[in-house]
Amino acid sequence: MQTYDVVIIGAGAAGMMCAVETAKRGRSVLILDHAAMPGEKIRISGGGRCNFTNIHASPKNFLSGNPHFCISALSRYTQRDFIALVERHRIAYHEKTLGQLFCDGSARQIIDMLVAEMQSRGVELALSTEARDVRKTVEGFALTLSTGTVTCQSLVVACGGKSIPKMGATGFGYELAEQFGLAIVETRPALVPLTFDAKTLERLAPLAGNAAEAEVACGKKRFSEAMLFTHRGVSGPSILQISSYWREGDEIRIAMLPGVDVADLIRTAKRGNGRQAVQTVLANHLPKRLAQSIAERTGIDGNLADLSDAQIKTVAAAVNDWRIKPAGSEGYRTAEVTLGGVDTNGLDQKTMQTKSVPGLFFIGEVVDVTGWLGGYNFQWAWSSGWVAGQAA
Ligand code: FAD
Repeated sequence: MQTYDVVIIGAGAAGMMCAVETAKRGRSVLILDHAAMPGEKIRISGGGRCNFTNIHASPKNFLSGNPHFCISALSRYTQRDFIALVERHRIAYHEKTLGQLFCDGSARQIIDMLVAEMQSRGVELALSTEARDVRKTVEGFALTLSTGTVTCQSLVVACGGKSIPKMGATGFGYELAEQFGLAIVETRPALVPLTFDAKTLERLAPLAGNAAEAEVACGKKRFSEAMLFTHRGVSGPSILQISSYWREGDEIRIAMLPGVDVADLIRTAKRGNGRQAVQTVLANHLPKRLAQSIAERTGIDGNLADLSDAQIKTVAAAVNDWRIKPAGSEGYRTAEVTLGGVDTNGLDQKTMQTKSVPGLFFIGEVVDVTGWLGGYNFQWAWSSGWVAGQAA
């Protein structure tokens, strides 16, 4: 049976960052993953270019039962620290939009960087190795792996969330948390496309494939980014963002021309040429099919000259205050992250160590800290992995 100072379950973003930092302190480290390659989610992230952080990352970009919990880790290892690491490895990157940093080349560069950092510090990486069972011992922990048994003083759980099961996501991290008496904040798919019921879909089917810059709101939260109509509902950045705040039964409000006084726009067009149809005016600002669909939804057709002011207001509301109740979401199959997870009340925010079981740490997505779309989730993985690496 082999013994290590630290064993890390999960060679994803958080686990690998933690492994590097722990090994820097001279600790012997085994990091294991049941996948055949490390960092599989990094590989597919950001459309293959990995949106590895966000210049503007701050605690307000995260959802958690305790919004203050993430402050410590995010301020001890910041986006600037990770950018410095990327630059040391001469990985070229660019800002795409809204502070989102992507590799110019490929997400594999981030994986290669982390693997190189682990190798240079003597971290042992065991792939195709599943953690099946963990027992507390007097000295630390004993793990039953698919390949044998190992023991360690400190155990770091970096198993990630439930999203994309076919990429290796398991609920193992949550099971371990429960086994050691930690509470779990209810988990649900987040950063996920929303779906409509059959009746709504029938009406909106012709829109599939159309995109627009939209402001999407749910309750008091609102996001202005692109939105896309799909064959099952709606997707695109603004929808993914709002999905983290949406709950079954909630309606979402969509403004297709945010910041534009649509009634004023129509009145001006009416004065200019009263013989235009309302959808023609809208099509000057929106995809044609979308303009058509909005006009159909209001049941208002005919020339602008014939429209009453009340009808103009109805069209304006259909454009910028469209209220719709999604039936559900696409679920973990396509969700980018899992909302909820290990309750932060059971963890020390400075180290990610559990308060009740010395030597047991939880980092990354398995914890109840979830970022917005835009590089925030990786920043949480780096920050939480880094702080655990200073203590494990
Ligand atoms: P993971 O990266 O999920 O790593 C957990 C690891 O644990 C996995 O490798 C898994 O195989 C392993 N594991 C699980 N159970 C066991 C077990 N029992 N034994 C052994 N190993 C086990 N975030 C961003 O910030 N920017 C992006 O561009 C971005 N793009 C994304 C695109 C997609 C399609 C998806 C799905 C997510 C994306 N995310 C992005 C989110 C981001 O990938 C995650 O937040 C991040 O990977 C979480 O890191 P982690 O280390 O906590 O978990």
